[in-house]
Amino acid sequence: FQDDTPDLLRHLNPQQRQAVESNPQTSALILAGAGSGKTRVLTTRIAWLLQNAHAGVHNIMAVTFTNKAAKEMNTRLSAMLPHNLRAMWLGTFHGICHRLLRLHYRDAGLPQTFQILDSSDQTSIIKRLLKQMDIDEKILAPRVLQGFINAQKEAGLRAGCLEAPDPYTQRLIRCYAEYEQLCNREGVVDFAELLLRTYELFNTHSALLSHYQSRFTHILVDEFQDTNKLQYAWLKLLAGGGAAVFAVGDDDQSIYRFRGANVGNMAQFLQDFQIKQAIKLEQNYRSVGNILAAANAVIQNNSDRLGKNLRTDAELGDKIRFFSAYNDLMEAEFVVSEIKSLQRDGADLNQIALLYRSNAQSRVLENALFQAAIPYKIYGGLRFYERQEVKHALAYLRLAVNPDDDNALLRVINFPPRGIGTRTVENIQAAAQESGTTLFQAACKMGKKVAPFIELIEQLRAQVGVVSLPELVQSVLDLSGLVAHYRAQKLIAEQERVENLDELVNAAIGFRVADVQLDMLPENLADNAALPIIAFLSNAALESGENQAGRGDSAVQMMTVHAAKGLEFDAVFLTGLEEGRFPSELSLNEAGGLAEERRLMYVAITRARKRLYLSMAQQRMLHGQTQFGVVSRFVDEIPEALLHHLSPKPKNKNLNDNSHLYFNQTAPAISRQELPREFDGFRVGENVRHAKFGVGVIIDARDKNDGSADLTINFGVDGVKTLNTKFAKLDKI
Ligand code: ATP
Ligand code: MG
Repeated sequence: FQDDTPDLLRHLNPQQRQAVESNPQTSALILAGAGSGKTRVLTTRIAWLLQNAHAGVHNIMAVTFTNKAAKEMNTRLSAMLPHNLRAMWLGTFHGICHRLLRLHYRDAGLPQTFQILDSSDQTSIIKRLLKQMDIDEKILAPRVLQGFINAQKEAGLRAGCLEAPDPYTQRLIRCYAEYEQLCNREGVVDFAELLLRTYELFNTHSALLSHYQSRFTHILVDEFQDTNKLQYAWLKLLAGGGAAVFAVGDDDQSIYRFRGANVGNMAQFLQDFQIKQAIKLEQNYRSVGNILAAANAVIQNNSDRLGKNLRTDAELGDKIRFFSAYNDLMEAEFVVSEIKSLQRDGADLNQIALLYRSNAQSRVLENALFQAAIPYKIYGGLRFYERQEVKHALAYLRLAVNPDDDNALLRVINFPPRGIGTRTVENIQAAAQESGTTLFQAACKMGKKVAPFIELIEQLRAQVGVVSLPELVQSVLDLSGLVAHYRAQKLIAEQERVENLDELVNAAIGFRVADVQLDMLPENLADNAALPIIAFLSNAALESGENQAGRGDSAVQMMTVHAAKGLEFDAVFLTGLEEGRFPSELSLNEAGGLAEERRLMYVAITRARKRLYLSMAQQRMLHGQTQFGVVSRFVDEIPEALLHHLSPKPKNKNLNDNSHLYFNQTAPAISRQELPREFDGFRVGENVRHAKFGVGVIIDARDKNDGSADLTINFGVDGVKTLNTKFAKLDKI
């Protein structure tokens, strides 16, 4: 037995090995396509550094894109190494910054119990601010202001260093300044602030910076293409003491431009860290041949790529299955029946992903899975901790820890309703503004009306550190009257809320501070009685559904394409492939928007290992409106030879009636006699081309007496038209 390859490197190809073994003292960039093993290389690099004593556990910081990815990496490393990994910092940018701010809250100018705002908390603060400043939401939309503030923060800019060229921007800056004050007063920190605060902390406290600079000799960053300018500046600062930065990324998977991600960071990185050349990996280990070919074909339509090749030794595998459903309900039915058939073939539900472009699409799919009793788990979107009732309960918890949290106070001061009207609240706000105190302080002086609420909060405060976390959560539910309130409503939806609240107690029972290791609660909080609560709340704000309360059983994984980055599944369903949906309508009006959507499509396709299903609905109910769609251009960009069409099998029913689900339940292949009947040579479900309206799909047809037929055709953006076969020039395609 002569092979002396160390065990660690055995499962790597030569290019990957070269990357892992590149000089431990210098920085490197691995630039490679999807599924080429970037994340595996990064993980192995950490193991290799430790095993060869190039670094100790505490010298390593690894940045991943999601908490889920961080957990997976931690599990892998634990399996590969004998080391105790607790001293290693492994997490998202947000998680790591959160930890730093908890450790150095005083230097960062924050209260010890500072709370994190998620983006909907931020929206409500901004609405409140606009009201206080007497600015009409119609004149300045909260979303616009929120976008402005976050963009400034992501560019590293405080209100004080902004100059306004025009009155409109002047007002935005004024609002930004007020917002900063408000957050400081209330001790709350939004997502972008986590980073900016830490960045400033480093800049203003040189001793602290040099401590971390000498500690972290090795910084590794996954999904580097989606770092924004501030994250990059942060990284550069921290690595300034000579740390070796090991970054891996794929320009074709840059999909967060709308949130300030900057692909230019790759070129900048090469320059700033004096890296001669990026290392490339060219073999894809994830997907079968047909899937990889489809991904390559689609992404080739983008220009301005850095240029990488991807090949595979894998077999071609199945063709990509495409299904065009009459409407969204039937699309969901299709997904369900295919999942059932995969299940019969022994598939693990955890290995099936259900992806969509936007969260709004998930409800119909969710419902269909629920009806079919197929377990599923939704990542992101309206996740557990974002549900209204859960946020109410969390607001009480926040007040128990910090009654000066105005946002939390406003959320629940009159919920469940306790007779504190808008008028009273406005009085409290005015009093607080006048005396420069928080709302709680002002409310304490308010007298009878508010007294029961104050007492309630004091009661909860008194329990902090005295009872356990689950007991406190239970107290919140009981004393606040939340459960009683929802229980009194007879609607099913309200009953669900009660269940979610119960689930919150379960989440508290299952919650162990040690589990927050990723988001890393420091030791200096250990003597604070509120520690478990703060840990619990921070976790709720930071996690993106991974710990979703619920069973740990195998379940179909549902998420947006954005959330699926870096993950892989045996089978992937990509739904809603209609023009205007994916690519999204908005993106089409923006410079570079289509290219970004195409990268998103590339990400989606490359999540699949063995099977890929693409589907669309010709009609879809969204936001209370029926929308009509034609097939996405991205499906057309996949070579026909790679596709296997699963056509619907219409019954001759009134097609406007949703209850007639007419797709083929069992065998996907269509035989001759199953084809729908002809109307003057055209069939429902077929695509046609019209000189003026372009490509459409026939969604209904009616014979005329003269042998011609009236066809109802959905032309997508051009709308639905009824055209006669004799008069309209229609070509079959
Ligand atoms: P993405 O761009 O989607 O993040 P990636 O480049 O990070 O993908 P990985 O997730 O690291 O790719 O790897 C893809 C799959 O290929 C994983 O299942 C991984 O275990 C496997 N893999 C990577 N390298 C090898 C190899 N040398 N031999 C066998 N399997 C490999
Ligand atoms: Mg990866």
